[in-house]
Amino acid sequence: MPNERTAGAVLSIDLAAIAANWRQLAALCGGARRCAAVVKADAYGLGALQVAPALWDAGGRVFFVAHLEEGLTLRRVLPPVATIAVFNGPLAGTEADFTAHDLIPVLNCPDQIARWSAHARAHAVHPLPALVHIDTGMNRLGLTERETRDLQDRPGSLDGIAVRGLLSHLACADIPAHPLNETQAKAFAAVRGLFPGLPTSLANSSGIFLGTRWHGDLVRPGAALYGLNPTPHQPNPMRPVVHLQGRILQVRDVDSPKTVGYGATYRVVGKGRIATVAVGYADGFLRALGNRGSGRIGNVRVPVVGRVSMDLVTFDVSAAPEVQPGDLIELIGPGHTVDDLAAEAGTIGYEILTALGRRYCRSYRDFKAEA
Ligand SMILES: *Cc1c(COP(=O)(O)O)cnc(C)c1O
Repeated sequence: MPNERTAGAVLSIDLAAIAANWRQLAALCGGARRCAAVVKADAYGLGALQVAPALWDAGGRVFFVAHLEEGLTLRRVLPPVATIAVFNGPLAGTEADFTAHDLIPVLNCPDQIARWSAHARAHAVHPLPALVHIDTGMNRLGLTERETRDLQDRPGSLDGIAVRGLLSHLACADIPAHPLNETQAKAFAAVRGLFPGLPTSLANSSGIFLGTRWHGDLVRPGAALYGLNPTPHQPNPMRPVVHLQGRILQVRDVDSPKTVGYGATYRVVGKGRIATVAVGYADGFLRALGNRGSGRIGNVRVPVVGRVSMDLVTFDVSAAPEVQPGDLIELIGPGHTVDDLAAEAGTIGYEILTALGRRYCRSYRDFKAEA
């Protein structure tokens, strides 16, 4: 494992901030019982094995992952009574893995419902729990309007299944004025009318901030837990979680007409200083950041110049002439957030987080140790 002495960059993850973000979202939605935590993709790249137990300690009891494998991993680190649900549902032939490890599938189509029902009837004494995903406008996963009505007309298709709730997913929750939010809320309310009494779940992080009409019985935040702004056009209400500092390997003086890096895409103008940092696109520092990204030295902004290479990136540090090899440049931090870096790369914070590299020295600030 890379440590602080040997690694090209240090990634600090604040578990106390993740726990505080979860509590804040739970409070917005009327209590802990109503707030799940989405920890798919290794908790958005931050490490599900560390993040999920911290959320459990904070009071979280319902966890969502995308894949069966992620559910199996999570089951090993969470108490047996933790609810773990799998968004993608059972692939054919994996039904027994779900029951063996007490994972709850999200059933996304008639075929998954049929297979889960058949599995329950063949192997289970009690009905097997599941969530049913209704598509209200995403057109990605979930039962269509017709399939939903078929299900209501033929309740026998749910034999052996204990439906724990209905789930749907918002396509445009981060754009509050988008008409699809209203359309989806109405469509979901209509479905709720078809299956009265079943708990409902609609909102992701941004959906929570649309208002209580979108909350249902269980909200499913992911991004906001990890400090991304769920309200992109307003100040970020969440606490920052990630701090990334890259190590300077060399500092050199340059003058025109020199160029920097592959493709000679950056032309030096006048005298300047270039710092080469031991982070590259193999670490998830996206190649799109070439000549567009920036870092911070103290409060000083230092721009990325030239292309990002696999293991290295170059910054113009003329504005911070005192820096030396061995010093750290802040790539993500309070003055330059994940969302800021994402904007520079022309992407979203989700992609920056889930791309965070495996070569970093990862350190977790554990809130229990500090309590
Ligand atoms: C990823 C995901 C979420 C969490 O979304 P965020 O925008 O990260 O809060 C919720 N529900 C479903 C179905 C998802 O796939």
